[in-house]
Formats: sequence, structure tokens, C-alpha cells
Amino acid sequence: MNVMIKLLLRNIQKNRSNCLNLINHNKLNIHIGAINMAKEVKIDKEELKKRLTPLQYHVTQEKGTERPFSGCYNKMHDKGLYVCIVCEQPLFSSDTKYDSSCGWPAFNDVLDQGKVKLSPDTSGGRIRTEVTCSTCGSHLGHVFGDGPPPTKKRFCINSASLSFIPKDQKAGDS
Ligand SMILES: [Zn+2]
Repeated sequence: MNVMIKLLLRNIQKNRSNCLNLINHNKLNIHIGAINMAKEVKIDKEELKKRLTPLQYHVTQEKGTERPFSGCYNKMHDKGLYVCIVCEQPLFSSDTKYDSSCGWPAFNDVLDQGKVKLSPDTSGGRIRTEVTCSTCGSHLGHVFGDGPPPTKKRFCINSASLSFIPKDQKAGDS
């Protein structure tokens, strides 16, 4: 009898601890969700219209494309960091920038895979992969599979969606 009661008690305790784990797990998920939500920047479109040029606004918020060879970073070869013009998240390094002759700044890779979001884009009768900023959702450009090794990727990014921080300035700030 005693053994039976002990077993019963142990089972109850086991179930309880399972429940606790479940609750804790749920709490954890909620917590992680809250962090993710906090990380996403809410964009005040009116404020943005005042801060950005019409072209920068059109490209980042209305998925526009600047005219080829017109962007200020197309022929830029300085060392530094390219950040999102809207939320200033670092996106690309000058180390992966190369001259693709396509008319827009081209990068062989992202600074970190989590910095951008890739989505299918079928607009304009073509199947392309759209690149957006993972923090604020701004449109950046498209990624193609015709880049040089090692990644073979060509991140074709609008100058209008980027801001450049020279390497020296970065070092001076930190
Ligand atoms: Zn951004």
C-alpha cells in the first residue's frame, strides 16, 4: 500500500513538474516574443517623409528603385559600414562590396544573415528575391545568384536605402 501511495505521489509530482516546465516554457516564449517585438522598429511615416529625401522615402517605403548609375554609393570604394538609412542597423561591409557594373551598389554578402529578410517578389513579371531590413522592414533591393565567389550572391542594393559610416569614424566613436 505504501509503495502504491509513494508511486502515486511521485506521479503527481512528476505531472506537476511537467506542468511547471510547460508554464515556464510558455512564459519563455512570450518573453522571447516580446523581445522580438521590441526589436522591430515602428516607423512613423510622416516623420520619415520629413527626414528622408523623396527618393529615399520612395525606395525604402514604396519599394522603389533608383535610376541605375545614379546612386551616391555605386562607385564608392571607401572602407566602412553601410547601415539602413531608416533605422541605422548595420547591413553591409565595404569588404564585400564589388563593382558589378549593374548600376547599383553590389555586395557579395550581408554583414550577418539576420540583418536582412529575403522574400519572393513577382512584380514586374519577373521572379526575384526582395531584400528588406530585418529591423524596420525598409526595402533595400534584390539579391541575385550571379555574383562572384565565394557566395556567388549579388546583393543589388539602392544607394537611397543606405547610409555610409567610414571606418575611421566608426573607430573614433567606439
Ligand atoms: Zn532598417
